[in-house]
Amino acid sequence: MNIPRLSCPRIVIIGGGFAGVSLAKQLSKQEAQVVLLDKHNYHTFQPLLYQVSTGGLEPDSIAYPLRKILKNFPNILFRLANVEAVNTDANTIVTNIGDIKYDYLVVATGSKTNFFGNTEIKQNAMAMKTIPQSLNLRSLILENFEDALLTSDLKERDKLMNFVIVGAGPTGVELAGALAEIKKGILPKDYPDLDTRRVQINLVQSGDRVLKQMSEKASKKAEAFLEELGVNIWKNLRVNTYNGNVVTTNTDVVFETATMIWAAGVKGANIKGLDAEKFTTRGNRVVVDEFNKVNGLDNIFAVGDIASMETKNYPNGFPMMAQPAIQQGEQLGKNLVRLLEGKTMVPFKYKDKGAMATVGRNKAVVDLERWKFQGSFAWFVWMFVHLYFLIGFRNRAVVFINWVYNYIRFDREARLIIRPFKYKNRTR
Ligand SMILES: Cc1cc2nc3c(=O)[nH]c(=O)nc-3n(C[C@H](O)[C@H](O)[C@H](O)COP(=O)(O)OP(=O)(O)OC[C@H]3O[C@@H](n4cnc5c(N)ncnc54)[C@H](O)[C@@H]3O)c2cc1C
Repeated sequence: MNIPRLSCPRIVIIGGGFAGVSLAKQLSKQEAQVVLLDKHNYHTFQPLLYQVSTGGLEPDSIAYPLRKILKNFPNILFRLANVEAVNTDANTIVTNIGDIKYDYLVVATGSKTNFFGNTEIKQNAMAMKTIPQSLNLRSLILENFEDALLTSDLKERDKLMNFVIVGAGPTGVELAGALAEIKKGILPKDYPDLDTRRVQINLVQSGDRVLKQMSEKASKKAEAFLEELGVNIWKNLRVNTYNGNVVTTNTDVVFETATMIWAAGVKGANIKGLDAEKFTTRGNRVVVDEFNKVNGLDNIFAVGDIASMETKNYPNGFPMMAQPAIQQGEQLGKNLVRLLEGKTMVPFKYKDKGAMATVGRNKAVVDLERWKFQGSFAWFVWMFVHLYFLIGFRNRAVVFINWVYNYIRFDREARLIIRPFKYKNRTR
């Protein structure tokens, strides 16, 4: 990997997501060589991926170069590398660009889409966990309408204009709301020769309410917002499979659709060498103690989505969200500094700052510890919080300008098929 071995300890971080970046920043002034590895050269702001998929934002505005984040930190090196395995006995990591030794290792690899072992769904459904996947989805949605124009077969046309989103967590709800707004505000103008009233947006949920991680009040209001926008909400319905044309469920409900979007779950993006049963727990996450140390290993830590720190209030680990990742990254950074200085580490305490989701224009739900509110004010709070946590002044400015423009013009200008999505079930 061509990285000199210095006399100071080497800390290797795998993953430049929310956890990895906040950790690296804490280590920027230390007598330690820090090596950050990521398979992408950019940090992704995942909460806004759905806006890329639906043409509301360009992908560049939610991505930020990792090298730019690290440019003022001479002790931190970045390498574009896909980490393949960890050898915990030899303290070595195996990557596609060579091996590297570590004194301390931090795994911050986040999570990946969980298809729960259903290979047919994995093959045929669209996922939305990365920018390339969001761009695929954007292309597919737009290609569907282009193809719908070309066919005189009404059944085929309906199939192309029928969208099924599985999973009514924040991602599913936000995507359904955005598609419904496109149906209402954009499609009639873009496709005057297509009967876009026939577009159907189906949100399927196996539980009995949407946004089940939030308060009942937030769920009810989000459902009301979605219904107002014309989204079909299917509760207590479990998707069995999808062959690229038909979605079957645990009841006699079936959907004929060219697009099923899978937003029904994630699991830890674990790495070979740390995937043994003794290190992992449900959801493919790595079990850590209150210092984020991997069970049974003295010099390996895990933070963010990949880490499962089981506490009294969170027996299944913290929610796989940005806040626990950021807070754990910061705390572990401080703890590693303490460790290097020969001091004892401080246990991690999660501060729950609440949850929020947006359904559309002036429609959002926010749950804070003492205050739960919905509607226009919640929507402004949602926008402010997302702008605040975006990395980079340019990205904030671009997103802000886009949002203002979209709000005033009822528009989404990034509806571009830049990189056509080749779908194997598609005849065209
Ligand atoms: C569509 C979507 C919407 C979301 N909305 C919200 C929201 O509104 N609010 C909220 O709080 N949370 C939201 N989340 C969840 C939030 O984004 C995650 O909890 C958060 O990103 C976790 O941070 P992390 O640092 O653990 O992992 P990530 O941010 O996922 O970063 C992991 C990094 O590791 C890298 N990596 C992984 N494996 C390897 C490997 N083998 N080799 C090299 N590099 C590797 C990846 O490239 C990535 O850069 C959303 C997630 C998604 C997908």
